[in-house]
Amino acid sequence: MQSSEPTSKFIKVRCPKCKNEQIVFGKAASVIKCLVCGRVLAEPTGGKIKVKARILEVLD
Ligand SMILES: [Zn+2]
Repeated sequence: MQSSEPTSKFIKVRCPKCKNEQIVFGKAASVIKCLVCGRVLAEPTGGKIKVKARILEVLD
């Protein structure tokens, strides 16, 4: 399963812990956490993010 998708777009992800759906931006300078439970959903890797949650949709 593809677990990371480096992109500069907005990505809709689902938290694997609490199932919260959240929009994250593909470029981030800091760790992105779930707004509900605090689980790390994505972390920065050289300007882009590595998504550590289920990617539902990539938005333009
Ligand atoms: Zn969560």
